[in-house]
Amino acid sequence: MARNSNSSTVVVIGAGIIGLTIALKLQDLLSSKSAVNCSRVLLVAREWPTTIPHASSITLNYASMWAGAHVRPIPGTTAQLRREAAWLKRTVQEFSRQLKAQPWTGISKTTGIEFIEAPNCDYEKQTSESFAAESGLPGYRELVSSEKPAGTWLGYEYETYCVNAPMYCANLLRTFVLRGGQTVLTSLDVTTKTVTKQAKDGSWSFIIPRGFDGGTIIGGTKEPENWDSEPSLHTREHLLTAGQGLLLYACEASKNHDDALSSWRNKRVIADVVGRRPTRQGGMRIEPEERLLSNGNKKNVIHAYGAGGRGFEISWGVAAEVAEMAKELLGNDNLVLSKL
Ligand SMILES: Cc1cc2nc3c(=O)[nH]c(=O)nc-3n(C[C@H](O)[C@H](O)[C@H](O)COP(=O)(O)OP(=O)(O)OC[C@H]3O[C@@H](n4cnc5c(N)ncnc54)[C@H](O)[C@@H]3O)c2cc1C
Repeated sequence: MARNSNSSTVVVIGAGIIGLTIALKLQDLLSSKSAVNCSRVLLVAREWPTTIPHASSITLNYASMWAGAHVRPIPGTTAQLRREAAWLKRTVQEFSRQLKAQPWTGISKTTGIEFIEAPNCDYEKQTSESFAAESGLPGYRELVSSEKPAGTWLGYEYETYCVNAPMYCANLLRTFVLRGGQTVLTSLDVTTKTVTKQAKDGSWSFIIPRGFDGGTIIGGTKEPENWDSEPSLHTREHLLTAGQGLLLYACEASKNHDDALSSWRNKRVIADVVGRRPTRQGGMRIEPEERLLSNGNKKNVIHAYGAGGRGFEISWGVAAEVAEMAKELLGNDNLVLSKL
C-alpha cells in the first residue's frame, strides 16, 4: 500500500481477500476523516475475483479463488497465534454483522466439527468458555465416543462460518467500486517483446507475450478457406520450430541465448488454439445502410465487420468512425447520453 502525496491517492496492490478487505477498510477510514475527504483508493492487481474460477483463467497463485474457506480457530498458544486469534475473533464479529445485513454476499453459518486423533495439551485444555472467549464462536461441545470415528481422541463441534470465497471476493470488489473505488488491472512483472517474421515462402511466425500470466502465443497460420476446427500436430511442430528461431529476439537484452534456450526447453504447451479471423474481401466494411422493414418503416444499420487479423489494433479507430456515422444519422438533438 502506498500513499501518493501529490494526487491524494491511496494505492492497494492485490485483489485477494487481504487487499480487498483492506481497500474497503481504507474507504471507511477516508470517508470518516474530513481532512482527507478528497483521497481516493486505487486497487491495482493482476488477477481479479471471478465467481466461477477455472484453472484456465485463474492461476494457482491467486489463493483467494481456491480457498475452502472455513473459519476454524486454533488455540492461541504463541504470541503469533494469539494475534491471529484476535484477528479471527474480529472477523467472526464482522461476518456475523454482514450475514445479517447482506445475506447474499457469500457467507454461510454452519456447524464446525473437528476430530483430532492425537491432540496436544493445548487442545485438551480447551473448554467451551475458553473457545468462545478466544474465537467469539458459540456452541462448543465435546463429542462423545459414539459421535467420533474410531481412533479419534478428541472431537468437538461449534457454530462457525464458511465463505464462498470467489463469490465473497466478487462482492467485496463490487462494494469497493460502488463506493467510488477505482481499479487498475496490471502486472508488476516485465514482459518480453512481440516478434513477427514473414518468410519468403509466404509463411509467418510470431511470438506474442500475453501479459498478466497469460502465457506466450507462438503462431501462426493464415489459411483462407480452411474450415478445419481441429488443431494439427504437424502445424504445432512447425510453429514451435519457427518460434524457437525467433526466441533470442523476443527476450530481454539482459538474457543470453543459453538462458533463452533453457526456458524454451522448459516450456509447456498450454493449449493449441484454432481461431478464425473474420476477414472480408476488399477489407472491413464500415458504412451505413438504410433498410426497409416489412411494416414499411425505414431503419438505419451501420455495418462494421470484416476486421480480419486486425480487430484489436484498429478497434478504437473503427469505433470512432462508427460513432461519427451514428451521430449524423441520429442528429445531435436525438443523442441520449448513458447514465452508466
Ligand atoms: C486450497 C486452499 C484452501 C484454503 N482454505 C482456507 C480456509 O479454509 N480459510 C482461510 O481463511 N483461508 C484459506 N486458504 C488461504 C487463503 O486462501 C489465503 O490466505 C488468502 O487467499 C490470501 O489472500 P491474499 O489476498 O493475501 O492473496 P491472493 O488471494 O493470492 O491475492 C493476491 C493478489 O495480488 C495480486 N498480485 C500478485 N502479484 C502481483 C503482481 N506482480 N502484480 C500485480 N498484482 C499482483 C494478484 O493478482 C491478486 O489479486 C486456503 C487456500 C487454499 C489454496
